[in-house]
Amino acid sequence: MALKRVTKWIQEKLSSATGSVYGERKSGSAIINNPIIIPRSEHSISRANISKNAVKVLYRLKNAGYDAYLVGGGVRDLLLGREPKDFDVATNALPEQVKEVFSNCRLIGRRFRLAHVHFGREIIEVATFRSRTEQDEEGDRQIENGMILRDNVYGSIEEDAHRRDFTINALYYNIEDFSVWDYANGMQDLRNGVLRLLGDPALRYREDPVRMLRAVRFAGKLGFIIDPVCERPLSEMAHLLEEVPAARLFEEVLKLFLGGAALETFERLRHYNLFGQLFPATEEALAYEDHEFPITFVNRGLENTDVRLQEQKPVTPAFLFGVLLWEPVRRRAERYEAEGLYPNQAIQEAAQEVLTEQARRVSIPKRFSYPMRDIWHMQPRFLQRNGKRPQRLATHPRFRAAYDFLLLRAEAGEVEQELADWWTRFQQQNGSEQRQMTEQSRRGRRGRRRRRPKSTDNQNQTQE
Ligand code: ATP
Ligand code: MG
Repeated sequence: MALKRVTKWIQEKLSSATGSVYGERKSGSAIINNPIIIPRSEHSISRANISKNAVKVLYRLKNAGYDAYLVGGGVRDLLLGREPKDFDVATNALPEQVKEVFSNCRLIGRRFRLAHVHFGREIIEVATFRSRTEQDEEGDRQIENGMILRDNVYGSIEEDAHRRDFTINALYYNIEDFSVWDYANGMQDLRNGVLRLLGDPALRYREDPVRMLRAVRFAGKLGFIIDPVCERPLSEMAHLLEEVPAARLFEEVLKLFLGGAALETFERLRHYNLFGQLFPATEEALAYEDHEFPITFVNRGLENTDVRLQEQKPVTPAFLFGVLLWEPVRRRAERYEAEGLYPNQAIQEAAQEVLTEQARRVSIPKRFSYPMRDIWHMQPRFLQRNGKRPQRLATHPRFRAAYDFLLLRAEAGEVEQELADWWTRFQQQNGSEQRQMTEQSRRGRRGRRRRRPKSTDNQNQTQE
């Protein structure tokens, strides 16, 4: 019953929506009601470049009598000649109706109810057009202090366009005639390389502070500038991220740093005071210098992440978070060591504390935080090069990641390059050669000790 009423209401809304033809747009503001309609002959999106599954979803919805559009990053990236990360579909079918059309469909989300259509590993996200917020609390929408906590009120495509974040993300590819509907002059911004929020930036950031992160992410990924009006409030409003659930921020952090432009994104986030909101302990640690050298470990780690992604090598969230949180862990462990703890204990204590504090901002699921701790905990063990220990360490399931981490530390000048080289050589040797190395290192160490009994070099101390 209720479903029928809502459907009828949506259909009435839709029938009042008319699209103007290409070039007729008069308004100069960011939001317009009549879209510019760009026919197939005048844009570069071809079905051949859209994921087969997304095309299937669009057609199945259309054949079931619904409107279906590709929207968001899929359209934006195809128009830019880039390969989209995923494909999002918008429709006038309600989530329950979408579920009826697809047997391989699951409804997810409480804040934003969505239909996920599964094709093996690929998921096509299907969202029902959302209505505007100005109508305030009605239906299944919850707003607190200007922040949208839940939004499941449905509307027309025009209303849906108003709800999107940036002009370049409010472009709709219509499966009916392959035209692109541009509600916010997104095409022009796309051409000019400008990220522009729809509506009043301060209001839109308050509604959803994650939009600040999205602005920085897209700017970094696409090489776009953030429109000055949208850029201005960023630093001042960065603190609003405190109110965003830590689990959601985990997802956003992955998108920020695993999109191929991690280093650039990191620098921009720091510039707008956003990084410190996500990683307060790291931000604080970065303010210090190490023996008068600026700390470069995070930069190198992120640069390395970008290179690995470019080379299509795997990058794990455990390693990424290991890099992002290492500075505060290392500093704290150093302090504990100076206070008399063994290096192994110092690093474990430090890791535990930093992670407990970090969980308040960005929660890291255990399946990533456990291997991340392993990577950290193994670092002091690389200093133990004698006897059976190196061989034992090399059989640890996380050895490879921990060794890569050691290489980064050496690159950043935090440990001797010689140590990293030793471990590189160690892995290239066979069993008896390895034994020779660990014997040599035992002799070498003793020799060194005799020559320099009061070495103050912490990094080369071994714990026996
Ligand atoms: P990518 O998938 O490449 O990260 P995207 O723009 O597709 O970029 P998604 O998170 O997949 O990003 O979201 C799809 C679309 O949903 C966006 O393009 C935008 O129109 C809308 N959207 C997503 N998040 C928000 C938000 N926080 N506020 C408003 N609209 C949003
Ligand atoms: Mg997307």
